[in-house]
Amino acid sequence: MRILSSHLRAAILLARKHAEALGKAALPVDIESIAQTFGVTRIESRKMSADGYLGKTVEGGLLIRYRNDVSRERARFTVAHEIGHIILARVQGSDVTDPAFRIAGGSNAEEAAVNRIAAELLMPETLVRNHLRTRQGSWDLVWQIRRRFRVSTMAFVLRLLELANLPAVFFRISTLPSRGEIRYRCRTSERPQLLFGHQIEMEARRILADAENDAPTPLTVFLGDSETIIPMASRFMRSQGESECWSIGWQLFR
Ligand SMILES: [Zn+2]
Repeated sequence: MRILSSHLRAAILLARKHAEALGKAALPVDIESIAQTFGVTRIESRKMSADGYLGKTVEGGLLIRYRNDVSRERARFTVAHEIGHIILARVQGSDVTDPAFRIAGGSNAEEAAVNRIAAELLMPETLVRNHLRTRQGSWDLVWQIRRRFRVSTMAFVLRLLELANLPAVFFRISTLPSRGEIRYRCRTSERPQLLFGHQIEMEARRILADAENDAPTPLTVFLGDSETIIPMASRFMRSQGESECWSIGWQLFR
């Protein structure tokens, strides 16, 4: 089924309503309790190759399975993702367990929409913003928040980038072994869009050099007409056996 933006919007609001109420009472958000609200009667781990599975129990309730060999953060995201499918189907007025619906589903657009709903369930927008308000960007703060919401570092970083009105930048930079070349990936917030003051590769090299000296990097960006500095905090992380520099920065409007 095609995903209308009005449906996605409604699904996100519905997710937010449930997650915020629970998250205000206690963090991390009680995802199993939200699952129950949406008709899930059983959640279980299984040895399987897919991350998650959504089906029906013999008694007619909904059943969510997640892989048995993943971190609890990833398991929580999988459960939230499957709830996302249920919520999206509900606002679309369709039955999530209808086989025809499941075959039509699973498109990239649907998976992206459902991940967006899952992020809202685990990291309700207002609660994340409250945690950001207190301090400037740093990896210690990122880890503190991600432990509080019990999500993976990457899930939290992606959430930051999708929050509206929060200019944010995220780099992953690695050095290629032979020729001193670098490889980098850079993502920036969707709203507002920002532009770099200098060539991105140059900025990536500067961030990497600063990171090697354990120093932050002031990054010049443009938001529309106005120039501003985003302080980038960098750390070296192990990713698939290789060392990568991860750098993040955001700017809060007060
Ligand atoms: Zn899915």
